[in-house]
Amino acid sequence: MFPGALRDTNEMQGLILEGTTEDSVRLSDSIEHVDNDLSARQVRVEIKAAGVCGSDLSCVHGKYYMPTPLVPGHEAAGVVVEVGDAVTYCAVGDHVILSTFGNCGHCPDCEGGDPGNCSVSMGSLSQPYREGDQDLYNFAGIGAFVQETIVGENQCIPIPKEMPLTAAALIGCGVITGTGAVFNRARLRLGDTCVVIGAGGVGLNVIQAAKLCGASRIIAVDRAPQKEAYATEFGATDFILAEEGVDVIKEVKKMTGGGVDHSFEVVGSTQLLADCLQMTRPGGNICAVGVPDLTAEVTYPFQALHQNKNLMGIRAGGARPRKDFPMLADLYLKGQLLLDELISHTAGLDGLRAAFDSIKSGTEARTVLLPNG
Ligand SMILES: [Zn+2]
Ligand SMILES: [Zn+2]
Repeated sequence: MFPGALRDTNEMQGLILEGTTEDSVRLSDSIEHVDNDLSARQVRVEIKAAGVCGSDLSCVHGKYYMPTPLVPGHEAAGVVVEVGDAVTYCAVGDHVILSTFGNCGHCPDCEGGDPGNCSVSMGSLSQPYREGDQDLYNFAGIGAFVQETIVGENQCIPIPKEMPLTAAALIGCGVITGTGAVFNRARLRLGDTCVVIGAGGVGLNVIQAAKLCGASRIIAVDRAPQKEAYATEFGATDFILAEEGVDVIKEVKKMTGGGVDHSFEVVGSTQLLADCLQMTRPGGNICAVGVPDLTAEVTYPFQALHQNKNLMGIRAGGARPRKDFPMLADLYLKGQLLLDELISHTAGLDGLRAAFDSIKSGTEARTVLLPNG
């Protein structure tokens, strides 16, 4: 397929963020690729589904200090429409999940199995899109709220065609962030106990991964009572409603005889992360899954960490996308991983604002945008 064959012109629809409020995102009909010709290892992907993640809200609120104007969106799946001359990992027509890493593939971190630690995948900025004379940054190596993207070969992970692309899109961020924290970082063992603070899209994935590992007790904590039903469906054995007057630390310690083996902070609150230290037994893991403002500081009493506890920073579930994404797709296709249940709405690109309202309400599941209808 030739560049631009999907449309009459190279211009396409997409969203552009121009400030640090939800009002500063607008729909454009005239976004183009700065360089429409693929280099040897690039892939052109028609974006069929792009999930609206809490990180998109944080990005729009300026909490990641991204330069603008920028095309937001980073949790996506689509169909390969063109590949560069040297691409071997995927082919035209493949259904792919996009990875945010864009790692180089040959540095010591990549070769050592930690592509998320690759310097190329850590905060490197680029302006692959433009609108008129104005170049546009992309968010998280993709900028997925647009009809078509051009990414590196190793950002495209093929999946079986029988998998719906709406469900597949979630694997690229929300699902790998939650499940990867359990499988790759905390490495839960059969019979372990855990607490999951925040039962939203990512938290539910922590919960279902803990269940798959055979955790004996999975305590979900959330401020919204509606989350109890979701948490239970995904595998939580207990639910604590974190309402006024409830001492969550005390409750968790009481339920587990002194603390859990693994605590997961998924909200992105530095106070809750500090609380997790107190809920975790000596030798246990405290997993920082949620991402607050990147300049936020965490304060905790030293003694809370002292007894051989492990405080873990976790970026995108410690993912190895080429290994993890097909494995997660396979679990979904076998009925062992719930993904459709995470989606409450689908919408066009103009549905972003309503999707943000859903996230903020804390009561609904994810919205997936369909940039090509
Ligand atoms: Zn690398
Ligand atoms: Zn995300």
